[in-house]
Amino acid sequence: KYRLKYILKLPGFGSKNEDALNFGSFIHKIFELGYKEKDMKSLLRIAEQERATYKVPFRDNDRMKSCLENFIIWNQGLGETMSTEQVVNVPMDEKHDINFIGVIDRVIKGSDGGYLVIDYKTSKREKKKKTLMDDNQLKGYAWAIHKLYDVPYNKIYCAHYYPVTGNFVAVKFSKFQIDRWKKVQTEKVWRIRKKKKDEFWAQENVFCDWCEYKEACPRFESESVVCQRIDEQKALKKAQKS
Ligand code: SF4
Repeated sequence: KYRLKYILKLPGFGSKNEDALNFGSFIHKIFELGYKEKDMKSLLRIAEQERATYKVPFRDNDRMKSCLENFIIWNQGLGETMSTEQVVNVPMDEKHDINFIGVIDRVIKGSDGGYLVIDYKTSKREKKKKTLMDDNQLKGYAWAIHKLYDVPYNKIYCAHYYPVTGNFVAVKFSKFQIDRWKKVQTEKVWRIRKKKKDEFWAQENVFCDWCEYKEACPRFESESVVCQRIDEQKALKKAQKS
């Protein structure tokens, strides 16, 4: 994927989970625009405005409605919203230009000065507290909030909110856990930096079913198919330019 996307800059092939990706982005957008709304009617109006952009089929209506109903109830009890879809870019090692970059779905400030970082998840697989304690994305968010808002780790909760079921799972990280996370991530950056561009072998992983380059991936296709598909994408790229 790295070679196809960033070196050859070829267009992707789409993903067989594209519908799920679109549905997730659609729900995120409704929550981003409608976090102040208090009734279903207003959220449904936003959904209708956004539906065409995310190509969400009408068969997904029931799932969408339960997400919105759950959201209305859950949203009522939250504190002050500090941001939605906040882009964060926080240096981890300024001298060597290593930054943590991410987009946080929502940041809430409680009346006690604590922060709640929320990541909306529309996938079917929900994580338990124990698994979330190992979540690198949430650790990064905790680090970013700690730096940006100058708040101690014991006042930062990081959570997954699953609107399909209404489940909410929150965890807190210690300074020790975040320091360890930073060390491991920084070492990973150096390992990647030391590699040569042709040392990025395709490695099968949990995200392969979401990968838009899977159709030209040597882990899943023969060499001849990979070559043929790359040639086709090169031709497509050329045609798109002209
Ligand atoms: S399908 Fe998986 S292994 Fe292949 S390029 Fe995509 S992410 Fe990498």
